[in-house]
Parts: sequence; C-alpha cells; structure tokens
Amino acid sequence: MISNNQLTARGISPGFALGSALVLRPLDLKYEPITKLDCNTEMARFEVACGKTKARLEALFSKTLKNLGPDAAAIFEAHIMVLEDPELKDATKDRIAKESLTAEYALTQVSAEVVKVLENIDDDYLRERAHDIKDITRQLMVFLSGQDDVDLAELTRPVILVSHDITPSQMASLNKEMVLGMVTEIGGKSSHTAILARNMEIPAVSGARDATSKIKSGDRLFLQGSSGELLLNPSDEIQRKFVADKEKEKAEKQQLLQFKNRKSQTQDGHTIFIEANIGSPGDTPLIERYGAEGVGLFRTEFIFMDRTKAPSEDEQFEIYKKVLTANPEHNIIIRTLDIGGDKEIAYLQIEKEMNPFLGLRAVRYCLKHKNIFKTQLRAMLRASAFGKLGIMIPMISNREEVRNSRMLLEECRQELLGAGIKVAEGIKVGIMIETPAAAVIADVLAKEVDFFSLGTNDLIQYVCAVDRLNEEVQDLYEPYHPAVIRLIHQTAAAAKQAGIQVGICGDLAAHTGLLPVFIGFGIDHLSMSPSSVLKTRSCLSKLKLSDCKTLAEKVLLAGSASELRAMCEKP
Ligand code: PEP
Ligand code: MG
Repeated sequence: MISNNQLTARGISPGFALGSALVLRPLDLKYEPITKLDCNTEMARFEVACGKTKARLEALFSKTLKNLGPDAAAIFEAHIMVLEDPELKDATKDRIAKESLTAEYALTQVSAEVVKVLENIDDDYLRERAHDIKDITRQLMVFLSGQDDVDLAELTRPVILVSHDITPSQMASLNKEMVLGMVTEIGGKSSHTAILARNMEIPAVSGARDATSKIKSGDRLFLQGSSGELLLNPSDEIQRKFVADKEKEKAEKQQLLQFKNRKSQTQDGHTIFIEANIGSPGDTPLIERYGAEGVGLFRTEFIFMDRTKAPSEDEQFEIYKKVLTANPEHNIIIRTLDIGGDKEIAYLQIEKEMNPFLGLRAVRYCLKHKNIFKTQLRAMLRASAFGKLGIMIPMISNREEVRNSRMLLEECRQELLGAGIKVAEGIKVGIMIETPAAAVIADVLAKEVDFFSLGTNDLIQYVCAVDRLNEEVQDLYEPYHPAVIRLIHQTAAAAKQAGIQVGICGDLAAHTGLLPVFIGFGIDHLSMSPSSVLKTRSCLSKLKLSDCKTLAEKVLLAGSASELRAMCEKP
C-alpha cells in the first residue's frame, strides 16, 4: 500500500476530510450497430433496460411527490408515458427485429428521428417532449451499457467524491450528509461548485490533475480544504493528526459562537450588517445557526436545477414565501435568475456558447425570455407580502437593462394588483455590480436603484480577464489587484453620493484581509456563506473605523497586487 502519497491540489472549501473515495467516471456509451447476438436476446436486453428505467422513474415520482408536491412530480409521470410511447418503444423493437441492430443503435436511431420531428414543430410543449425523449434515451443507454450512473442524491454511505468536474446542478442534487469531501481535477475557487461546497460546508480541493486515474473507488483519502493538501492512503500518523485537527476545528467553531447574537460592530461602534448567501429554502436554518442578519443573496438559479422543467409561479411563490416567513425581521434579497456561465440548465436550452461567461447570462437571458422572467418576478412580488423582500438583478452592464427590468417588474405588479393580489409597498430593487461597465458607470446606475451589491466573484474575472473556472490561470485571479480595489471603491463612493445602500455578496465579503479596506470604503452590508459570518464578525470587532479609513485611502495608491496585499498585512 502506498503511504502518504501526496497529490497536488488547491483548496477551494475549508475543512478536513478523511474517508473512502468514490470516483465518478464519465460513462462510456459506445456501441456496435449490428448485433452479434440473436434478435430475441437483444430485445430482452432492451426490455430489461426499459424495466429498470421505469422503476427509477417511479421511485423519483414518489420521492418528488413527497418532497416537492404533485406539480413537480408530474414530470416523472410524463417521462413514464414517454418511455412507454409506442413511437419510441415499439419502433425500437421493430428495428431490432427487422434489421438485426443492437438495442443501443436501434434506440438512438429511433430517438433521433422522433426528436428531429418534434424540434421542428413550432410548439413549446412538443419541444419539451423532445427534451424528455433525449433524457429517457440517455437513461436507457446507461442501463444498456451495464454501467453505474451514480445518483448523487441517493448516496447511502459517507464518501469523498472524486471527479474530473462536478457541475453546479450535480451539487444541487447531492445528498450532502453522505459527502465528506470533494476532489476535482478542474475548477477554480470562485466556480459555483466551490461556492456551493463552502455553503454546504463540504471540504473540497480542485486542480488535482489525473485524480480520476490515480485514485480508485474505495481508496482512503485525506484532504485539507484550506491548504489544498490531498493524500492518497494516508499514514496512521496522519489519520491520528486528522482526529486532533478535527477537535481543534470544533473548538474554534465553539469559540466563535460568542459572536452569534452580537451586532456586527467595530471596536469603536461602527455598525454594518453581515448577512448570509443561500441557494435554497433548505439553507434557511443556517441563517439562525450562524447569527446572520438576513439574506444578502438568494441564488435562485439553484431551485431551477435538479429538475426537468422550470418551477411554476406557484412553486416559486411557495419557496420565496418560505424563506421570507422564516426570517420576518430581516431583509431577504432574492436575486433573479442568474443562468448561463457555468450554470447550465438543460431544459432552458441555451445554445452552446464559445464564451458562456460573456454570453446569454442572467439578466440578458431573462430579458430575452420574458415569460420566464415575469413568472419569477410575479412569484417574488406575491411573496413580498410575507416579509422584507429586496429584489436584485444580476449581470447588469448598462442602464437599459435596469430600466427594462424595472418596467417588467412594474408590469407584473400592476397585473397582480389588478387581480386583487396583495403586493408589499416600497419593495427595494437593487442590482449587482459585477461587470466593469457597471462599476465604471456606478454614478449613473445609482440613480436608478435602491441598492448595489458587488458581485466580486465575477467582477474579478471580468476585470482581470481571468475565467473563474480555468485552473491554469487561477494565479491571475487576484482580489488584491488595484483595478479591482479601485472599482470597488468607485462603486461604494457612487452609492454613498446617491445615498443608497452598498454591499458585497461575492466571496470577497468574507475576505478578512480586505475587511478593513471595505469598512474604510463605507461598505455597509457583507453577505457571505453562512459558515463565514461569525469569523467575519469576530474580525470586525477587532478593527477601528479610523484605522480602516486611513488604510482605505492608502490602498488606492498601490501600484500592484503585492504592494496592496502588503499594506493590508502591515497597515
Ligand atoms: C458574484 O459574482 O460575486 C456573485 C455573488 O454571483 P455569482 O457567484 O453567483 O456569480
Ligand atoms: Mg456573479
């Protein structure tokens, strides 16, 4: 057995993990066209795959019915109908029998023909059916291939996941109780997978090259999500140290609990708000657990994932209402759909893009797909009657996008009021400042909205021209870059000038090195992964506003990231 076999990786979500690896490999769905078996055996293989697919769909139907209700479960009923549709099933068997084809070949041929016909009809319902057929075909192919399609929602034993990549939608579906840690070969610290891992408090490392070929399922792994340490088959000594480190981590967390019910204040009484970023109503208990003062960012795109159809207005209304009523005394900022970039949702059918982060993302998608946008806005407005709602629009890069979004919002409001539905008065509407264009015209945009929230995850990638997912250029993804810091300053100054609220909801909100700079700039809201709230509040309590202001002036003169970092380390 190899001992202390160290693999190179980068930490993306803090914490320690020790456990057994589960390696997720891409499925190999290759097949021959003409069968070497007789047709009856081929037909029987197909029947078995259909039976297994049906059993899986029935299980998903029951689970979804229990967890999300009949609306969401209906899709699996529809899938069962697609599976049993003679156009797919009988036609495939016909081909197997008449042309001596393999089940795989016959199925893919029939499926492609049906999909082509449906996709060419100008009807949303039929296009959706085409998508269902593709889904079912893939599922059948997996069963025909005899491979395991690991369902991350159904993990039954604790594992450390090892994969080339884990997508945000896989993250949204996983059973987090069973995931001790994660190792990926690609993906940066500000990828949405990393953000979700931190929200879920799952220790994770990425950039572990060839991890899927070096590690086998069942191998023992140790990982440290801050430093990026990753050991294959760790020695007994390391395993003992793990237990000690875990204890230490627990004691530190316990120590921080003293900040839970305190105000977020500097030593000399300057108060700000430290809020939580959430991705689903299931995250709401974390707000109270970590003493967050509301929600500064609810990433609603995650409620569109792990399903095969967009949530209806009623479903969304129930979700937003649940979050608002769970925290009636706090502001809850719900962000409109930020789809695109690394957040793919197959059923929304965004064309493959060369540069998805520069493509049809977030507000750009919503303004082109007004039915989806309006459904969400109506659900939010209906929910506004149940708490303190703020609505936030992501990826703004010009004033028209703000005005057009606000116009649609007003249209929805009028429709609801006209139908006698209650909508709260004076709902705050804000935008994310996460494109350089928005930061540069922050003075213009400040006149249009009630608040700004800096999306520093994207701001850094766009300012530094560094893809937030690309492992190769992560060293250039630089929070201390003077261009980033100056744009944050410029945005905060424009907000102050216009008398509107300004916060940060990107990961920099929890960056303790830059905290005094942000306070000195007059940032008044910081929204972060719930588990970072107490540490940030504790760091804030050690600062003095006057020192922060001095440092904030000084950093604007820095000529490089290293100079700026040094100023923060030795103010
Ligand atoms: C950001 O860009 O900083 C942000 C908070 O949004 P997201 O990470 O979801 O792109
Ligand atoms: Mg963003």
